[in-house]
Amino acid sequence: MVIRRLPDPVPPVRHEITGSYVARLARIHGMDFGTLWDQISQPIKPQSSVRRLIPAQLVMLTGRSLHQLAGALPELRTPAPDWHAFRHEPQPACHICTARHPGGPVLQLLPHHRYVCVRHQIWIGPPDVDHLTTSLTELPEVAHAQRRHLRLLQRAGWAVTYDAVLTAILMCGQLWSRPSKEPSGAWYEWVRRANILIPPGTSESSFSTARLCAAVYPEAISLATRLASPHWRLQAQGTWTDRTQFDMEIAQLLAHPTYERDRLHDPISHWADANSRRPPVAPIRLFTDRKPTRTPHLYKLSLHAATRRTQQRHAREFDPTSRAVDALVMHRHVASVYRRAWNPVRVSTYPHRPPHPHYFGV
Ligand SMILES: [Zn+2]
Repeated sequence: MVIRRLPDPVPPVRHEITGSYVARLARIHGMDFGTLWDQISQPIKPQSSVRRLIPAQLVMLTGRSLHQLAGALPELRTPAPDWHAFRHEPQPACHICTARHPGGPVLQLLPHHRYVCVRHQIWIGPPDVDHLTTSLTELPEVAHAQRRHLRLLQRAGWAVTYDAVLTAILMCGQLWSRPSKEPSGAWYEWVRRANILIPPGTSESSFSTARLCAAVYPEAISLATRLASPHWRLQAQGTWTDRTQFDMEIAQLLAHPTYERDRLHDPISHWADANSRRPPVAPIRLFTDRKPTRTPHLYKLSLHAATRRTQQRHAREFDPTSRAVDALVMHRHVASVYRRAWNPVRVSTYPHRPPHPHYFGV
């Protein structure tokens, strides 16, 4: 089929999914998405109404080279990117970054390490049900943590960083939900940030698990740098003296004056005992696991009604000083490391204390 070049073929946004790009092109030109999509796609099998993009047709439609398009659209890259390094769900981009891109909302597939648009101080990860916009202007340390996260990525690579950051977010959620008798300085910081992001009395409209994730993100990145460090992993697995050094480091990091006394059965000790020798965990699901649909420009998080009801209950009952942050611990964003925490390999590690595989009774 001969494809006529569009009069105004705007460029795609970096990390945009192709369905989102084609939908924007259609809107800009006053066309129906399906009409345009049919011109540049073909059925995935005979008689199927589900269609797959033909990259060469998109090249003709836009007048942009495949190289240019693939630079922004991960789905067009050859060879295909390592999808393990990307989230499995597309999400709305930073609305300020994309305001100059016409044609409506932009859906992006971001790599695991993108949590904050540093330029505009907007939280962009993980995707959440209600896609609330979360401004971080009152919390500069969260944007700073994104820079530290990128430095960790450069040092350790994506696989180790992915594991360390998610493990650390899960640990912070657990420590927040179940504080010791004397909460750490980090715990008070999480409550303070939560009160800014989810102001008291507004939780039914302002609650989101992504905001809980933002509240713990600075300490999670600090913790992740230790979990990813070969030196601190050896300290965690070593002799009693080594482990004491590791515990002192954690106590300082969390501003926890009594961590030495309270550490038994906490999730960091559990990690040191049971998981610190294990290789990085892999994502459970990949973007490419999704079945092609007739509407690749639309994306909604698929939630069971029961899951949505649970979300609403979390919002109604939210109290940053109580177990309401269980929503973060249970969130699918940390599912890969949560699953591992529940399924520890019995390894002989710390000689003076057995593993506590059933600690995670949240
Ligand atoms: Zn931005």
